[in-house]
Amino acid sequence: MTAQIVIIGGGQAGGWAAKTLRDEGFDGEICVVAEEAWDFYERPPLSKAALLEAAPTLPRLFSEETQQALDLRWYRPLRAEAIDPQAKTVLLSNGESLSYNMLLLATGGRARLPGEAWKAHPQVYTLRHWQDAQRLKRRLAESQKLAIIGGGWIGLEIAASARKSGIAVTLFEQQPALCMRSVSADVSAELLAIHQQQGVDVRTGCGALELEESNANAVIHCEGRREIFDAVVVGIGVDLNLELGRDAGLKTERGIVVDAQGRTSDPAIFAVGDVAQHAAYGLCVQSWAFAQNQAVATAKAMLDPAAPGYDDVPWLWSDQYQHNIQILGIPQPGSRTVVRREEKGSLFFSLNANGTLNQLVAFNDPRTVKLAKRWMASGRDLNAEPLGDPAFSLMSLR
Ligand SMILES: Cc1cc2nc3c(=O)[nH]c(=O)nc-3n(C[C@H](O)[C@H](O)[C@H](O)COP(=O)(O)OP(=O)(O)OC[C@H]3O[C@@H](n4cnc5c(N)ncnc54)[C@H](O)[C@@H]3O)c2cc1C
Repeated sequence: MTAQIVIIGGGQAGGWAAKTLRDEGFDGEICVVAEEAWDFYERPPLSKAALLEAAPTLPRLFSEETQQALDLRWYRPLRAEAIDPQAKTVLLSNGESLSYNMLLLATGGRARLPGEAWKAHPQVYTLRHWQDAQRLKRRLAESQKLAIIGGGWIGLEIAASARKSGIAVTLFEQQPALCMRSVSADVSAELLAIHQQQGVDVRTGCGALELEESNANAVIHCEGRREIFDAVVVGIGVDLNLELGRDAGLKTERGIVVDAQGRTSDPAIFAVGDVAQHAAYGLCVQSWAFAQNQAVATAKAMLDPAAPGYDDVPWLWSDQYQHNIQILGIPQPGSRTVVRREEKGSLFFSLNANGTLNQLVAFNDPRTVKLAKRWMASGRDLNAEPLGDPAFSLMSLR
């Protein structure tokens, strides 16, 4: 059968691409190949509301009526196994083959584990899919003692949700600081203080971890200590689902290389969301905002080559305890951090030598994030401004 547009991946980016194609007037066939059985949904609630609410429901991207109106041809739950870019076909796990005029890769990533023993253990959990959240929630309800492996954003959010539920949490991080790859040392220290205040036993710079394979309990050995937990959640990052694109000969670096319009090295194939490398920053941003907005821009460009591309500054947020944390931009080596402390929360400005802002991390201050977006866009020199002085009005720099 001939399909016009095939989307591989029924996650957030795939969903926004499908909706945008229809919103922009595409009336050809759209096929969605999705490994998961669910309708399009968002993942951020999985580490927050889905673990805390009494009866959480699937965090749908669109209402059932809206999704129905998109008139999609679903192939689910099925995997796309291979792409033949010459024949322009996609081979599915049931042996079927789909033809495309244009193909969109929205395959996201999968949770990483330290090794095979961890994968097989009944009390080891990861959190990527809706059913992962349901399984973890059930276990948390029976747990008193939880180990979290990995002090990145997801590990910290799970720690916050578990503490809110009254569970004792030990968090193991092999790096010397929390979220070290994405924020400055001052921000890591702030995160550490917040979690310690909430009673999390944070072990940064911890040595190698070993899991007792034969024990039905989650027993961890670290630096000569043997500790028993009710469950272990691993949040050590994701492996991006790059294989399909790479095997089809697409250019890949840290992710699939795309231009600002989401086009890969094959002009008939586009990539969006976690799996796609930010065209300007050369890295995979892996955030809700990128999954939505880069997918929207790409879908528009699939229909109109003159459509403007996507060049937003990376932005993500995290909710932990009572804190809304927003991270705008990527810290650059050699930058200096200016810290501003206010009652509602703190602001961490990372400045280049020429005074331009490369990152703002804002605790409970979305207004300043909006302002900082403008400073970044205009390349404003902030060197002479007393950003760290709480008496100085940042709004005067509008
Ligand atoms: C628990 C959690 C909490 C998060 N919280 C935040 C947050 O607070 N703030 C924030 O900014 N970001 C957050 N994120 C990140 C954000 O959710 C992701 O960046 C976003 O989901 C990426 O969307 P995507 O569509 O690219 O990938 P995904 O949502 O992973 O969707 C990819 C889909 O493709 C499917 N697939 C893969 N390979 C195939 C194949 N071969 N055939 C068929 N289907 C396939 C997968 O099963 C999956 O359903 C969070 C992520 C997680 C996991």
